[in-house]
Amino acid sequence: MTATASRPVRTRFAPSPTGYLHLGGARTALFSWAFARHYGGSFVLRIEDTDLERSTPEAVQAILDGMQWLDLSADEGPYYQMQRMSRYREVIADMLAKGTAYYCYSTPAEVEAMREKARAIGAKPRYDGTWRPEPGKTLPPVPDSIQPVVRFRSPQIGVTAWDDLVKGPISFDNQELDDLVIARPDGTPTYNFCVVVDDWDMQISHVIRGDDHVNNTPRQINILRALGAEPPCYGHVPMILGPDGEKLSKRHGAVSVMEYDRLGYLPEAMINYLARLGWSHGNDELFTREQFVSWFDPAHLSRSAAQWDPKKLNWVNAHALRQLSPQDLAERVAPRIQRRGGSPGNADLVAVMELLRERSETLEDLAEGALLFCGPYTPADTALRTEVLDETALGLLRQFHTQAQALPGWTEAGLDNLIKSILKTEGVKMPKLAIPLRVAVTGQKHTPSISAVLSLLGRNAVLQRLADTLA
Ligand code: GLU
Repeated sequence: MTATASRPVRTRFAPSPTGYLHLGGARTALFSWAFARHYGGSFVLRIEDTDLERSTPEAVQAILDGMQWLDLSADEGPYYQMQRMSRYREVIADMLAKGTAYYCYSTPAEVEAMREKARAIGAKPRYDGTWRPEPGKTLPPVPDSIQPVVRFRSPQIGVTAWDDLVKGPISFDNQELDDLVIARPDGTPTYNFCVVVDDWDMQISHVIRGDDHVNNTPRQINILRALGAEPPCYGHVPMILGPDGEKLSKRHGAVSVMEYDRLGYLPEAMINYLARLGWSHGNDELFTREQFVSWFDPAHLSRSAAQWDPKKLNWVNAHALRQLSPQDLAERVAPRIQRRGGSPGNADLVAVMELLRERSETLEDLAEGALLFCGPYTPADTALRTEVLDETALGLLRQFHTQAQALPGWTEAGLDNLIKSILKTEGVKMPKLAIPLRVAVTGQKHTPSISAVLSLLGRNAVLQRLADTLA
């Protein structure tokens, strides 16, 4: 892929703040960001907030939070379309003056009737050009009771084509494209028009966006040309499907990026996973953000829809957890332990992380596991005690208790030796002692390696809980 030598690479992410940053949006942002970073260009963030009914400040904040969490920093922006209204009006006035746009006084009812008429003869429903100026044409007299809309004078012959970075050559017959309304009766600009002016003013060289925008692209290209601007290169990425092949939605679980933060996924893993969702680099599945940027090539964006795979995300996240130092993990997990009512300060959290990370997929798994060491201790209930702590078990626990009190130190190796020596003298297998020990000192039947758990719990807690159990 050539990153057009003729102009500096500038990409943008242009979300409409009508909800949280969803996975599809985050992936579009990621590709645009990586494109800019790969070619040493700039990445612009633009908030498309002109839909006043549906845009909210909370949604703007949610998008900014999501971008920050993923660490997709913009070089420029956020720009807000609502703050650029005077600029859009200026461009509209300019187009009216140049004749590339015109006032249209047809009422909505009249336009609907035109569409109906077209439909009736099997043609594409469209505006019939009543107010479109043509050389030699006399326009109807201007009705003074009607506030006009402004329409773009769209080319009527030929095709509008582009070589899509993702989908390859795409072309639209200009006959299919209506004279688009670019300003409403109150003068406010319409969606496609704002996008065009922004892409122009912000000198965007490459637009990567969802393929739900393919139909907007020929309109935007034509307006850009009418403005004398060079259209950017466009790349339309297919949508993300749920595991069942349907469009990804809430039905499939979390769809907000920040929800994944809450669930204990690492931004590093989200980047890795989202990148692979519609882009590939050979058979590489696991890579860092830096590798992604250096490998990024839009030619390797997939033409077919990607499928969300929660199991794979877990696998990528588990891998990412292992790339972090236990210190780093401890810092990230501590607040999660607190939220679960635990006291992270009550344990050697770094050692706990070291013990748990091989068996955890998310930060929440780690927090949950860490409660064994720094959460409120709940002794085993009667049912579990009756099930596990029979006479033989209590006998073994008694031995362990006595000998553990005499241990000179309190290390995993020392505890492991002690357990093995008891097993040997008594001629029993590991579970015979390990399970009663777990139940007695953690209240649970399943824990990581018992000697590691005992060592991390510390001498006092272990001996006390054993004494309580045996009392
Ligand atoms: N604001 C549009 C959206 O959120 C994106 C427009 C664009 O990328 O051109 O779908």
